[in-house]
Amino acid sequence: MPIKCNLCEAGAILKRPKTGDALCKNCFYFAFEEEVHKTITDANLFVRGETVAIGASGGKDSTVLAYVLKALNQRYDYGVNLVLLSVDEGITGYRDDSLETVKRNQQQYDLPLKIVSYEELYGWTMDAIVKQIGLKNNCTFCGVFRRQALDRGAILMKVDRIVTGHNADDIAETVIMNVLRGDIGRLQRCTAITTGTEGALPRSKPFKYTYEKEIVMYAYFKKLDYFSTECIYSPNAYRGFARAYIKDLEKIRPSAIIDIIHSGESLSVKKAVKLPTQGTCERCGYISSNPLCKACILLEGLNRGLPRLGIGKSHKERRKLNEMLAQKEEAGNEKTTPDNSRETTENASSEKSASGSSKQKCENCSCGQKCLAEKVEDLQLDRRKIDPALIDF
Ligand code: SF4
Ligand code: ZN
Repeated sequence: MPIKCNLCEAGAILKRPKTGDALCKNCFYFAFEEEVHKTITDANLFVRGETVAIGASGGKDSTVLAYVLKALNQRYDYGVNLVLLSVDEGITGYRDDSLETVKRNQQQYDLPLKIVSYEELYGWTMDAIVKQIGLKNNCTFCGVFRRQALDRGAILMKVDRIVTGHNADDIAETVIMNVLRGDIGRLQRCTAITTGTEGALPRSKPFKYTYEKEIVMYAYFKKLDYFSTECIYSPNAYRGFARAYIKDLEKIRPSAIIDIIHSGESLSVKKAVKLPTQGTCERCGYISSNPLCKACILLEGLNRGLPRLGIGKSHKERRKLNEMLAQKEEAGNEKTTPDNSRETTENASSEKSASGSSKQKCENCSCGQKCLAEKVEDLQLDRRKIDPALIDF
């Protein structure tokens, strides 16, 4: 006997992953859209008259978001002006194709579109970055640059808010990743439906409680035009592990995704815990808790042939950089000041005779100062050319 829809008398065609309800197509659309509407109204996401940029990649999440927001804006008269904003990372064979989908979406949904590219903003495409750094850490560059590129594009479009297609699965993964990294600052922020209110532009996630599986179902049954190929420089291994872990959890406990989000929301940080304070980047003016924002450090590294400068435990790189510069400066002083030079030589020889060895050793290989000086020359780390804010960072 055919299964009936739990909400009407029609025949059910799917089982909702989120609730287990058997639903017909129309009732699924209704339930899906109403939940997004509830998320928007509960969090007061929109203000009448605002211009809202939808971060559009051509993928399923942002395509469904554009479609649903356009429908809800008409149905419930939010009174917002919707526009599409895309970032071209410069990934041949991936982003160029997906941007074609966005351009079709622009026609289908009749919304204005702006595309900003890494090449025009940073002078680098992801293809060129991957050529320099390889396939490890490429997503760090891409993620940091994209975040800033979206803000810059949004400012050019004079929008008041950005919305992105991040879904419940993405947010649960981010919670797990921040727990594993012990990143209290991000853990506290990552479940917020709106971020960036203190900085550039507010950025909201209307799909915060929407399951990825349901977004795929919605796009499939509505026959939406979206691009489903994976990035050629994927996967982002760390997020991939968090995703696999949550999928395993879901098999044991179907509500795992929402449970993780709720756990993240319930976490509170003691007042005594010191969190990074937000300021602005000394070079580009973008929000940053350090003198230079992450994008400027990564860019500096790329432009100087030191692409690992802003990656991982980058303080080690910076410390090394500072030590090398200090050594070089010291060596320069010895050469240019005759009195100092004699004094230094005398001190060095007396230290040598006292300890039996030279005090100034290369920290990398203990071979002596000349090796260090050569490394400095090789890397062209002339203090005058380095941004002072970078040195102090
Ligand atoms: Fe960028 Fe990595 Fe995503 Fe590719 S997978 S678009 S390189 S963040
Ligand atoms: Zn900056």
